[in-house]
Amino acid sequence: MAQQSGVQEVNASANNFIRSIIASDVDAGCTRVVITRFPPEPNGYLHLGHAKSIVLNYELAKEFGGRCNLRLDDTNPAKEKVQYIDAIKRDVQWLGFEWAEGLRFASDYFEQLYAWACHLIHIGKAYVDDQSVHDIREGRGTLTSPGRNSPFRARSVEENAELFARMRAGEFRNGERVLRAKIDMASPNLNLRDPVIYRILNASHPRTGTAWHIYPSYDFAHGQCDAIEEVSHSLCTLEFEDHRPLYDWFLDNLPVPSRPRQFEFARLDMTHTVLSKRVLTELVRDGHVEGWDDPRMPTLAGLRRRGVPAEAVRRFIRGVGVSKANSTVDDSVLDAAIRDVLNEQAPRRMAVLKPLKVTIENYPAGRIEELEAPNHPADASFGTRIVPFSREVYIEQDDFSEVPPRGFRRLAPGREVRLRYGYLVTCHDVVKDAAGRVVELRCTYDPDSGSGAGGGQRKVGATIHWVSAVDALPAEVRLFNRLFTRARPTDLVTDLDPHSMQTLSGCLVERATASDPHGDALQFERQGYFTHDDDSRSGRLVFNRTASLRENPGKSPAAHLDRVRK
Ligand code: ATP
Ligand code: MG
Repeated sequence: MAQQSGVQEVNASANNFIRSIIASDVDAGCTRVVITRFPPEPNGYLHLGHAKSIVLNYELAKEFGGRCNLRLDDTNPAKEKVQYIDAIKRDVQWLGFEWAEGLRFASDYFEQLYAWACHLIHIGKAYVDDQSVHDIREGRGTLTSPGRNSPFRARSVEENAELFARMRAGEFRNGERVLRAKIDMASPNLNLRDPVIYRILNASHPRTGTAWHIYPSYDFAHGQCDAIEEVSHSLCTLEFEDHRPLYDWFLDNLPVPSRPRQFEFARLDMTHTVLSKRVLTELVRDGHVEGWDDPRMPTLAGLRRRGVPAEAVRRFIRGVGVSKANSTVDDSVLDAAIRDVLNEQAPRRMAVLKPLKVTIENYPAGRIEELEAPNHPADASFGTRIVPFSREVYIEQDDFSEVPPRGFRRLAPGREVRLRYGYLVTCHDVVKDAAGRVVELRCTYDPDSGSGAGGGQRKVGATIHWVSAVDALPAEVRLFNRLFTRARPTDLVTDLDPHSMQTLSGCLVERATASDPHGDALQFERQGYFTHDDDSRSGRLVFNRTASLRENPGKSPAAHLDRVRK
């Protein structure tokens, strides 16, 4: 188990109630080795909520010198796919974690789980029920009324053992019978009213194929898998609090090799998104997004494709903390973590998203000057790059105003601005097309105003970014807004923002970006952070906006690119 960031950060984040429990268990000598696990069900891709569980489990184990297992909870072949198993492995690794001693699967333990179910039958604590799913549900009662004993509850051990063996052998159809634990149909805790522990499912399993016709329930598999792996602290989300008595009941009644304990913490919940695999599956299935790795998705694959560094996800999760009280985190907290990390990590480049041609009339045609630009304003270790300057450059349409409103300090007729890393230019003429749109500016430059020269000190209203015609490469840029318009989406369809993705074509980027590594975000100066999209591999350049530069897009010089966030 390895994790890239420093120990200090691990400690800073780990100060929570679960950490205190583990620390006192270790101090008291009741925990020898701290073993945790992250147990995803391979029925979808991992999202930010899972990241919370991953960071918590792995970092606690690491801090206490123990280990964390990655165990795929593959007990429901009807919904699980190899594609999801592969995605989960990839995403956990991307987040910076390595699982201890090989990948685990609940299906590794199917034989043992079966033997333990037989054990319950033999001690009179499990029975085969022939009732329909409907009748079982009816018989369970409600929070205010007790359940009813099944007419099959009094079956003999021999009959139960024989029927359960026949269930395993595939003699029955789906749903024809189940195995239930015999606990207490009057328990105030519904989970203890004879829960189903095995159901018949004639389906092919990604790992065990057609070897099994019965599969254990989550409740029956989970604690026992924990016990086999000698998990000391089994951390899960609050909705499993009511399952804990059942978790303990199985461990009390079975000859398990160790005695794990379950602790619950609040799920991660965020505004303007959904962290539920069921809902995310619907978004993908119904085509509301372009796949699990759509950059608008809160999945780890989506965030990665958008260009979010794993470090930003870890920082965000650590900052959110762990508690027992449910709360909703504002999505701006994640954006802030992304900006923090990218401000440190992203090399600077120039890109013009909505180009306006500028001809510098007193600059000789054919001449190209190599200007040197630092790759990072605060970190010289990023080095510098050459930005070629020539008679024709492109600037952002919004950096020019023919009739500048009050407070507009950028280019306008008769005004001088600095081209970043280069010269001062003054606008003299505006060229328009037949429709009256400004299509070109005629400017002059001051040859003595290069950023190194004395003229570089002259005060001007603004410094704007640009790309020269000899250097520019065409690119497509995709801008993303939140997937949902409402802070707490309730309706998948009406709450979706139909404009959550905006595609700009005809953008111009510095040539240097073509060889910048895919996956690592760049800062396009004054615009935001951008990353090559996977589609960039096919030869054309496609960039995703990973994050804008500021929280309030209204203040951005390129405000026209941001839709107002509701
Ligand atoms: P979903 O509700 O999205 O389907 P799940 O709990 O069914 O999630 P699993 O694959 O079973 O998905 O989850 C694996 C682990 O991740 C579990 O321990 C679960 O408690 C944890 N987990 C899932 N969602 C969150 C969340 N939003 N915050 C924290 N932990 C989570
Ligand atoms: Mg689950």
